[in-house]
Amino acid sequence: MSYLDRINEYKDEMVSTLQELIAIPSVKTEPQGAEDPFGPELARALNYVLEWGQENGFETKNLSGYAGHFEYGEGGETVGVLVHLDVVPAGEGWLYPPFSGALSEGRIYGRGAIDDKGPAVAVMYALKALKEEGVKLARKIRIIFGCDEESGWQCMEHYFKHETKPEYGFTPDANFPLINCEKGQLSLVIEGQFPAVEEGCKLHSFSGGSRRNIVPEWAEAIITFPDQQQLLKFKESVSEKLSKEILCCEVGKENQLRVQAKGRPAHGSLPQQGDNAITKLIKVMSTLNCRGGAWDGIRFIQDGFGRETTGQGLGINCRDQLSGELTINLGVLKVEQEKIRMEVDIRYPLCTDHQVIQNKIEEKLPAYGLKITESSALAPHYLAEDNWLVKVLLNVYRGETQDYTAPLSTGGRTYAVTLGNAVAFGPNFPGQPETAHQKNEFMSEQDLMACARIYAKALYELTKEE
Ligand SMILES: [Zn+2]
Repeated sequence: MSYLDRINEYKDEMVSTLQELIAIPSVKTEPQGAEDPFGPELARALNYVLEWGQENGFETKNLSGYAGHFEYGEGGETVGVLVHLDVVPAGEGWLYPPFSGALSEGRIYGRGAIDDKGPAVAVMYALKALKEEGVKLARKIRIIFGCDEESGWQCMEHYFKHETKPEYGFTPDANFPLINCEKGQLSLVIEGQFPAVEEGCKLHSFSGGSRRNIVPEWAEAIITFPDQQQLLKFKESVSEKLSKEILCCEVGKENQLRVQAKGRPAHGSLPQQGDNAITKLIKVMSTLNCRGGAWDGIRFIQDGFGRETTGQGLGINCRDQLSGELTINLGVLKVEQEKIRMEVDIRYPLCTDHQVIQNKIEEKLPAYGLKITESSALAPHYLAEDNWLVKVLLNVYRGETQDYTAPLSTGGRTYAVTLGNAVAFGPNFPGQPETAHQKNEFMSEQDLMACARIYAKALYELTKEE
């Protein structure tokens, strides 16, 4: 029997292991004790997989509940596979209870099914097959389980404080064929404090969005007009054209209007897929042509962002063949008492760098009375197509699927960054609907098995004796 045949025999066991893992609602919470930094359910999920590792004869290690691993094989070098056990909250509207692991028409449903418990189970059984088959390997294989991928990545920070980095690695937490380019990320906070306005319209407050890395779904402004006539004029002009997207209602106070915009959320690395409620509302407000006070800061958003997402208005747009186009998301805006604060998320391609982008933005700000008050950057992550690891993984994938899609670039960040010499590899196949973080998240039995075969072959090819 080959190790690939063995995987086919594990099918029922794999499905029930995944169902049991889904049944642990491993959403990050407050710690209860010393060994559960992300809450008791994550500690339970980590113990579950490490016990499985022990039962199957692997050396296991728990790093104080932050992360854990198990290992197989001998050799000076190590191939690491990074998966994560934490899940985002389930949300509403599921066909089946989100932590039931319901099996229906060949799909295993549940929060974490594809992100990232299914892939974790696929890798676990891939390793089991290699071990049971007694395959001789020239490198060690280590499966690392992180417990804080969805929020702060504290798990990996802790892990690599105590463990050395594997020489090669992959993370099954994104797409096939593989992602060899992850854009750089620049996060900015821009602020300004303005003198109070004495005449004309007053921007009483503005509030929109909740997180820098999410396209805001809502925004609301309260504007005080100098008289009822101007208020009505604006209200009419808005409701004529935009009645469905913008809502106006008069507040109890004299000549005050509440204006609300509804957008469509999307991940901050894909702002073009969403509809930004903040910039939508500001576009409407800018027809008022107001000056002074916080309006000057608002004008910067209209001029610099407008309604597009590639940084053209700020002069930072650029693109290249390998990594694609720069994207920008204005995720949060708050205005209160003439103080303005905005949070911006920029994902930049290889052809530029964060300092160049920041300098260009900084040049524009003084004219609007604004300045950058916080800035942090993450460099892009890129492995060339002729890199040995990339070549091996691509070959394995192509051999198994006959799909010759080119490697991908993403604006998102995966665990590959923390590993260094690593890429994201699966589990989503090209053209499939992406259900991660959504209701009715699932992984099909077929894909679970296909992933296990691909991962087993990849691990074999990366570690075999030459
Ligand atoms: Zn994930």
